[in-house]
Amino acid sequence: MADRYQQFTKSPVGKFVVPKLGLPNPATLRRYKPGQPALEGPALLGAAPGGRLEKVIEAQLHRAGIEVVSTASDKHAALVFDATGVKDPKQLREVYDFFHPVIRSVGPSGRVVVLGTPPELAEGHERIAQRALEGFVRSVGKELKRGATAQLVYVAEGAEEATESTLRFLLSSKSAFVDAQVIRVGTETKTASAPADWAKPLDGKVALVTGASRGIGAAIAEVLGRDGAHVVALDIPAQGADLSKVANKVGGSALQLDITAADAPEKLAEYLTTRHGGVDIVVHNAGITRDKTLGNMTEGGWDSVISVNLASQLAVNEKLLSGKVLHDNGRIIGVSSIAGIAGNVGQTNYATSKAGVIGMVNVGAPVLAGYGGTINAVAPGFIETKMTAAVPLFIREAGRRLSSLGQGGLPVDVAETIAWYANPASAAVNGNVVRVCGQALLGA
Ligand code: NAD
Repeated sequence: MADRYQQFTKSPVGKFVVPKLGLPNPATLRRYKPGQPALEGPALLGAAPGGRLEKVIEAQLHRAGIEVVSTASDKHAALVFDATGVKDPKQLREVYDFFHPVIRSVGPSGRVVVLGTPPELAEGHERIAQRALEGFVRSVGKELKRGATAQLVYVAEGAEEATESTLRFLLSSKSAFVDAQVIRVGTETKTASAPADWAKPLDGKVALVTGASRGIGAAIAEVLGRDGAHVVALDIPAQGADLSKVANKVGGSALQLDITAADAPEKLAEYLTTRHGGVDIVVHNAGITRDKTLGNMTEGGWDSVISVNLASQLAVNEKLLSGKVLHDNGRIIGVSSIAGIAGNVGQTNYATSKAGVIGMVNVGAPVLAGYGGTINAVAPGFIETKMTAAVPLFIREAGRRLSSLGQGGLPVDVAETIAWYANPASAAVNGNVVRVCGQALLGA
């Protein structure tokens, strides 16, 4: 599972040879450790005239323990720009004027965050100018070096106060492998409540994680447990031993269940109600691949993938909602894939199911909003797991290197993104699909 090439680049020989030959030199990404400072230096904050976010953001950054400066120096851990004042394409010059002199000052694993107004909520020239920001941020993501990332956050009018959890996530090392993403906060302008303790935002919550015995699911269980949730770790009976280990490690419960069984939604609803009085967070992580080109694919190979990766999740959601098992303000989180965005050879079944997860988010967002809840998904790119270790060497190398960060992500990177969605302060983050892919070129 180790990225041997990246290890080589850090060795004495690698340090000498790699720059000489102009080979890819993936940075060591800063990752979250409890107690670590929010940023390794100051954040430079700027705004286009007439912006509505600058003051609110400044207060939010201060609360997060971040040093905010308004005068540029030669080194910044983050550059944050409120572009909500940009109402006309001519005013895009404000974006250039802010970033041009300071873009080289962004430190290792630094952060660029641009905030705007959702184009669909604006009209005419403002809509065009706001939409244009996407091209800027995606290009900056490709130009930044040393593990730095760029993101665009569209904040609806009225949702200014609800951006804090998103800013904290994007500026922190928790978003290490999230790059060049466009996030929407509060198109329904819901109010979000800050957790009593930002280090334990999920205290008192019950979280169900499917496929939790290994890989990404085990990492999700650990991170949600770290954040204070009681985790119900679910997997098929054949994975029972590993499942118990994960559940014990996070102080949660193990539930052996095949989610594709006809009575699984019923059993799950009963278990969650009788043992825990319901559930607050549902993470549909269980997933399988049965790769074959379409002409070689059996009916069984098609059906099983659609069943695990999509159909069973819909059945579970419907049962948990209709039975009021999912608490009001509940969260449903899907795990899509960049294959579901870009398509992939040999994965018509898998990509169909994962694109369907995006459809599930689209359809579910207004439904969940009716309960004060949210539904969002992550779309992982190349993540270092047993699944990707089995990929042939050259394809594996391409999967790692063909991205702005030049490496694969870790299961924890997907888990941290899910924990941001689950945070009570993320109540206005609804209907998003965020790629955790290091800005992979696939489907870019
Ligand atoms: P994995 O195979 O290691 O883990 C998947 C887990 O789901 C396994 O423990 C498995 O037993 C469980 N599962 C399968 N069928 C089930 C069923 N019917 N009922 C209950 N549990 C079931 O895979 P992973 O790499 O950790 O991937 C986790 C999720 O992330 C999947 O949805 C996968 O499609 C997605 N994903 C992974 C990557 C990657 O690079 N690894 C990339 C994109 C998306």
